[in-house]
Amino acid sequence: MERELYPMCAKCAKRICDPYNKIGTEPPSIKEAPAICSMRLKPDVIKKAVAEYEREDIKEFARLASLQEAECYEWVPSGVGDRLGIRTKFPRVEETIQFAHKMGYNKLGIAFCIGLGNEARILDRMLENRGFQVISVCCKVGRIDKEKIGVKREEMIGGPKGKLYYESMCNPITQAEILNSEGVDLAILLGLCVGHDSLFIRYCHVPMTVLAVKDRVFGHNPLAAIYLSSSPYYGRLMTQPPEKR
Ligand code: SF4
Repeated sequence: MERELYPMCAKCAKRICDPYNKIGTEPPSIKEAPAICSMRLKPDVIKKAVAEYEREDIKEFARLASLQEAECYEWVPSGVGDRLGIRTKFPRVEETIQFAHKMGYNKLGIAFCIGLGNEARILDRMLENRGFQVISVCCKVGRIDKEKIGVKREEMIGGPKGKLYYESMCNPITQAEILNSEGVDLAILLGLCVGHDSLFIRYCHVPMTVLAVKDRVFGHNPLAAIYLSSSPYYGRLMTQPPEKR
């Protein structure tokens, strides 16, 4: 049976989209890319998408993002002969502040999870200290009962206790609409849950970036599970569930 072809960059070992050839030399031909390469499978989509950068505002946004990216590295003596090595300079929170300054933004929005209330307070202070006006909205804004979206008391976080205690639903659509209504220059997502973040992104109509995503086990660093995938602890995620074997 013929294998279905669709973009699978994650499986590519060639990476000829980033050839790193010396200036003045020819990069490898796209014909050398694997059959699962978007550059072979989706040339029209690529052409149309790249045309978007012709729009002045988009081009400037992309240009400043790339400048910011480059500023996050610096060349330093590596200690081996006269060779230089590259090292990283800024944590993401500083990268975000620097990018916002580059863009000339004044008003920033934070959409945060109530579980990261302390982090939101600190971030708010950091941003204000750098001269921004900060609008912040907690996920429980609106105080709407989870029952409104069809969650039964016994299905709530409180479990059996949830039958007794009220639980406000997470309200990412309202978070987004409040930041939209305030006309923030940039919305910053801080620790929203999976799915709630999807709704926030869908309804947020201003430029947005993510400072952190929710990971209740790994200190909001979901990549820890990936880095531990060869260990006994999270190796189970690398195997198929029994029903698929
Ligand atoms: S774009 Fe093509 S060459 Fe680049 S990683 Fe994807 S499959 Fe590989």
